[in-house]
Amino acid sequence: MIGDGMGIAQITASMYHEGKPLSIERFPVTGIQQVHSADNLVTDSAAGATAFATGSKTNNSALGLNERLESVPTILEMAEQRGLATGLVTTAPIVHATPAAFFAHVPLRGQYEDIAVQLTQSGVDFFVGGGMKYFNQRSQDQNDLIEIMQRSGYLISSVYEQPFATLQPNFNQKFGYFTAMENPPAFSAGRDYLPFASRTATRFLERASDKGFFLMIEGAQIDWGGHKQDFDYLLSELNDFDLAVREVLKFAVKNKETLVIVTGDHETGGLAIQPGSTQDSLIAAFATDYHTATMIPVFAFGPGAGYFRGMYDNTDIFHRMVRALGWQ
Ligand SMILES: [Zn+2]
Repeated sequence: MIGDGMGIAQITASMYHEGKPLSIERFPVTGIQQVHSADNLVTDSAAGATAFATGSKTNNSALGLNERLESVPTILEMAEQRGLATGLVTTAPIVHATPAAFFAHVPLRGQYEDIAVQLTQSGVDFFVGGGMKYFNQRSQDQNDLIEIMQRSGYLISSVYEQPFATLQPNFNQKFGYFTAMENPPAFSAGRDYLPFASRTATRFLERASDKGFFLMIEGAQIDWGGHKQDFDYLLSELNDFDLAVREVLKFAVKNKETLVIVTGDHETGGLAIQPGSTQDSLIAAFATDYHTATMIPVFAFGPGAGYFRGMYDNTDIFHRMVRALGWQ
């Protein structure tokens, strides 16, 4: 699970602000990762998520490529090949950098229409996110990718047809749900699907294959709050992400065979809690409206969690997941 833009300071702020324990306090294993990209000390989400997804460092903006810009297999593709069920849930467009790093191979993260085509070819079993217009209002061709996916066996729906909570995905049929034409709303503007979609994803994927599943869940807008230097936005998104982590943890405690990893791809905003803060009133300062190079915590729970102890590079998250999955 990836909290985009979630560094130590964001977690600290949320703990003080909410005055209640975060779900990650229940994770027995903690690690810390370095997140620089191949061409920059300060990574973007494309290079950061590519490092988790493929084990390769790449340049900022590149997805699913190594630093020589050659295509490299992603953990989601490897899971598909091995017959596991796969899923992606995000509060960003589904073609946005973090989810796209798990199925797309393009040099520029902004190639949203190309990324949409690659999603249709990925074999992913379950996805929820925004960005519907890159599928059915395309400028580079007139293809209706939603129709194409439906013909290939997907049940596709959207917020414009049916609320997510009223849908009953059938685990015998691949499932996709669009939450917006472009960006899903902020939690504070009424978005409420992340925890429920995370819960639905675990239930769906558990039944979709007897070989297990790989699921990536992204709380994308923690990062957007940091870019806007909007502390309330950041905190409400982090809190929503925490609710999603709780849902997955509940599943993992019951299921006993699920490894849950929670981390961020980078920190956003250079957030600091200032002197004079109290628990009721935090005084926050931002050092930048972009990402920083600070190290990022990793929390792990379940079988194989021990692999995530210590200090390592972001690419090691991929290698350690592969080891934990027993694929080596
Ligand atoms: Zn960002």
